[in-house]
Amino acid sequence: MHRLTEVATGVLVATSARYVTTSTVITARDGGCLVIDPAVTVPDLRLLAEDLAEAGLRPRAGFATHPHWDHIMWCRELGNAPRYAAPRAVETARRERAGLIDDVERSAPGHDLDLFGRLTPLVPGSASLPWDGPEALILTHDGHAPGHSAVFLPDSGTLVAGDMCSDIEIPLLDLDQPDPVGDYRAGLDLLAALPVRLLIPGHGNAGDGAEFRRRVAADIAYLDALEHGRDPGDPRLSLDWLTDEHQRHVRHLHG
Ligand SMILES: [Zn+2]
Repeated sequence: MHRLTEVATGVLVATSARYVTTSTVITARDGGCLVIDPAVTVPDLRLLAEDLAEAGLRPRAGFATHPHWDHIMWCRELGNAPRYAAPRAVETARRERAGLIDDVERSAPGHDLDLFGRLTPLVPGSASLPWDGPEALILTHDGHAPGHSAVFLPDSGTLVAGDMCSDIEIPLLDLDQPDPVGDYRAGLDLLAALPVRLLIPGHGNAGDGAEFRRRVAADIAYLDALEHGRDPGDPRLSLDWLTDEHQRHVRHLHG
């Protein structure tokens, strides 16, 4: 894991070697912080907690962008702050808990399962995170996973996008939902309307506002090609697991 790096004033990112997963920390004035999607391995979380302690930062809130196993972790060293998520995300994590535990035990074993996926639902319709740090708007949609939520910081124009707008992953659809492509497009529409100056994806590299708009366009182009049965010609389709996911999308939509 690369240790925490400040990517904008008060915005710190650590990137795990596993799946190029980002953990994002937003600092408040008096030593508090918000921790978004701490991940992935047990040592990754321990290093994150050590970095925060060294910097004199104490988690005052956590946030999980969506109910997939690699986004709902926590460890005792991060303390007992509430870990929020959108209500639909919390319901999904509860309903699918057994499968999520199987996933984490297979892929990143050794986490404290008492703390894994222990999420507090935001009050339905909440526009922002209930904490005393910089305003953090919550943008919830059902693209990629039910109740998927990005966090947007209007002061710095920072978008913590969760598993959307990645430079290394194609749009990954939740094929258990009745309209996975429509859900994904609705999510992209919601994000595209924001005045983003800094993008932090859940997997991949951060980018500026121009790069954000390029990725939104690339994701729309992928979905257009998928729906019309064309080869997307997407340079992100370079790894086997992503071409497998693409083939699952194709089979789901076109039989
Ligand atoms: Zn995900």
